[in-house]
Amino acid sequence: MVIAMSINLCFAFMAAAPGAAEQPIFTPAGEFGARIQAVLERYGNQDIEPRFTDDFILADVVLSPEYPRRFDNFSGDISGRFLGAVAMLPNPEQAGRLEGLVGEIAKCQRPDGRFGAMNLSFAAADIGPENMALLWGNGRLLAGLMEYHQYSGSPKALECARKLGDFLLGVYETCSEPDVAKRLEGQAARGFICFTQLIEGLDMLWRATKDGRYLDTAKRIVPLLEPRGVQHSHGYLTTLRGYLMLYESTSDPAILAAAERLYNELIASTDFLVYGGVLEYFGMKHDRDEGCSEADFLRLSLQLWQATGKTEYLELAERCMLNIFYSGQFETGDFGHRRFGDAGYIPAEGAGRAWWCCTMHGHRALADVKNCVVTQDNTAARINLFLEGTWSDGDTTLVLTRPGATDPQAPAFRVTVDKAPDAARAIGIRQPSWARDVSVRLNETETRPVLLAGYLIFERAWKSGDVIELDWACTARLVQPDGKVLRPQDLTDQPVKAAMYYGPWLLGVSDELDPYFHGEPWRENVIGLPAFIERPKAPVGPKGDPRIVEDAHVVVNYRHGGFPDPCTVTLRPISEQTPYRQPMVTVWLNFAKPAE
Ligand SMILES: [Zn+2]
Repeated sequence: MVIAMSINLCFAFMAAAPGAAEQPIFTPAGEFGARIQAVLERYGNQDIEPRFTDDFILADVVLSPEYPRRFDNFSGDISGRFLGAVAMLPNPEQAGRLEGLVGEIAKCQRPDGRFGAMNLSFAAADIGPENMALLWGNGRLLAGLMEYHQYSGSPKALECARKLGDFLLGVYETCSEPDVAKRLEGQAARGFICFTQLIEGLDMLWRATKDGRYLDTAKRIVPLLEPRGVQHSHGYLTTLRGYLMLYESTSDPAILAAAERLYNELIASTDFLVYGGVLEYFGMKHDRDEGCSEADFLRLSLQLWQATGKTEYLELAERCMLNIFYSGQFETGDFGHRRFGDAGYIPAEGAGRAWWCCTMHGHRALADVKNCVVTQDNTAARINLFLEGTWSDGDTTLVLTRPGATDPQAPAFRVTVDKAPDAARAIGIRQPSWARDVSVRLNETETRPVLLAGYLIFERAWKSGDVIELDWACTARLVQPDGKVLRPQDLTDQPVKAAMYYGPWLLGVSDELDPYFHGEPWRENVIGLPAFIERPKAPVGPKGDPRIVEDAHVVVNYRHGGFPDPCTVTLRPISEQTPYRQPMVTVWLNFAKPAE
């Protein structure tokens, strides 16, 4: 069953936490909004199994023998993530459930503060994979309780989190003994990363309580992160996200330097995929990814950008989001695991809709993105990402749209000043590295704004109704399997195997939308790619779904491996697989100069 996507763009998101009205608010629309809406509607949809009932969410803390649920030994994993994701990016229906859920969670807290099996001993000699599963879930629950507390100020959530934090302080000494880490080698999702991921929740608990024990313990965990090796990528990247939070709390440059070093080693390694993210396990031992790891890579890249101001990190976040992260969202709204073959995405025997983690963790990442689309500093309101929505700080309201997303011949990006500030104010718009021939119009007049540190700066006394329009040509890059990059104009008659980036998008051929391309024998198909790519004259479709990105389509001729008749296919963003059930999306394609 394909779940019909509601295209109603009248969102019922709750804009901000109660009491935070003076904070700038961004209300998503377009593709970004549709993807948020899809995951929020997933929780309330009674036609999709499993249903997110209270019993289902709470199973990992209640541990009732009558309601066994997958991964309930990771105690707090779903319940904590659900609290955190909904609190950080809520709609009224789901937000209304949270305080009640916290009440039920609190009833399940054990006398020593933990959640989960009471018979697991944390004496150093006894610590094994099941202890790590418990710690993992407890760590996710601590983060979720703190995010809900940040949203609501709930005293119950904070009380519960404090008791849980005290339990975690208590297990630090035994878990940090070197024998324990050694014993847990090769334990994947139940490995030592379950312990090092605790930095995040402990840092949040310190921020709320200013109790120095939580911060000290978080700092002491930092050097315990094990090398990337063959680890579970979600736990490793969650630990690095904890580093960045700790850097924000302490301003210790050594922590930031360590995070930057480990991140840069990762992206220079074969663990970083052409799709813009990572697999479920480092070390290339597996054929699938995990939505949680892509969510972490996206969030970590944004944190590094915020900590350093380096736009390279922002562009890596954007690349991850528009490609591997979006591709990991299923037609149901869930995030999860996608499977890879040697040429691209392939269906798995069972769809990896990971309702036990990725659905909420993907949702949680969207909350971080929402806060980064527009930021402001002393000099300007800065538009960092080309996503659609409305931003307002009360004084100024900006409406961001992507006309090109529905009409490929229309401008790529438009900013409309809906409410003008009283005084002159600067608006900065990022000039992306993947765009060329950037043209700018202010109220329909060509203009040349100042380019300052990667941002086009417009400073004037604004009037409501002012419009800035940006257009550009996307740079096409053909990435070969060895990492070398070719431009389309470098192609000859000799076919070259490559994955094609077009602007920020990785393009592929979907067997759902272009079924004939994959008719046997398709592996010898050769695409004739022009030296300079033009956008389609009219929308390619399918129409009416904001997740179909018209100005990212490239229509090309190709020669099929089995017959000489000329054929045509549309290269599309790999993210366009979301509306369909596990399509095959081929990204490693053969390219050559078009035949004369
Ligand atoms: Zn996951």
